[in-house]
Amino acid sequence: MNAKVELERIKDAVKEGYLFACLRLPEEMVKKFEEALKLEENPLARRVFEILLENAKIAEREKIPLCQDTGIPVVIVRFSSGVDLSGVPEAINEGIAEAVKEGYLRSSVAHPLTRKNTGTNTPAIIHYEYVSNETFDIWLMPKGCGSENMSRLAMLPPARGIQGIKEFVLNTVKEAGPNPCPPLIVGVGIGGNFERSAYLAKRALFRNPGEPNRDPEVAELEKELLEEINSLGIGPLGFGGKTTALFVHIEIEPCHIASLPVAVNLQCHSARLKKIKLL
Ligand code: SF4
Repeated sequence: MNAKVELERIKDAVKEGYLFACLRLPEEMVKKFEEALKLEENPLARRVFEILLENAKIAEREKIPLCQDTGIPVVIVRFSSGVDLSGVPEAINEGIAEAVKEGYLRSSVAHPLTRKNTGTNTPAIIHYEYVSNETFDIWLMPKGCGSENMSRLAMLPPARGIQGIKEFVLNTVKEAGPNPCPPLIVGVGIGGNFERSAYLAKRALFRNPGEPNRDPEVAELEKELLEEINSLGIGPLGFGGKTTALFVHIEIEPCHIASLPVAVNLQCHSARLKKIKLL
């Protein structure tokens, strides 16, 4: 297959997609908020869910961002052989910059040392994934940094095993407390090496909310961890309650026999995500 998608089309799709993501929560999140509201007995936790549901409705109706932090853009480009990627990163950045301008979104990307704002909320962090089936998808995540800042990575001794992984994930959520704006989606990357585990944790957050890992053993670990996280009692926005996390997503890959990398990437309740299909 030889495919050259018009750069203008990519830019426009990214612009629309980024705006959409900033204004509309994924349906799965809204559904889960409704379920959690029924489950919670703590009046403060219930009130938080009522406000989050109202906030989602207002954002969609009034076309205003779900949260003032419209994120650092994280993008995954999934492509198969024959897809021409020349000019694609530029088109993605232009699309995001236009969305920021048109939607009056906050520009939050700055030089790390001078802290000078780039003014366009770009450059986006773009990852590339080669896939075998005929594909050209662009996945967009405006990622809030309240939750990003509380994310952690550990190179555990392999002897710590599954118990060590669980302890690390639980400690990360516990130490984060209310800072990452719970209820959370907890992305966990296990295996690979130092940088790969961090990517796996981020990749886990790109899964549709609540979609379990295809491997039943890993899916079981997701369930166990979710229960253990929710028994911490941090609750929505840290006010206490049964719902500290809505979902746990885990991605795993093989690693060196001498290491056990584990990364935890926290996603806040404003778990914005938009997946665009270009082929
Ligand atoms: S962490 Fe999420 S909910 Fe909290 S301020 Fe940032 S984007 Fe908003």
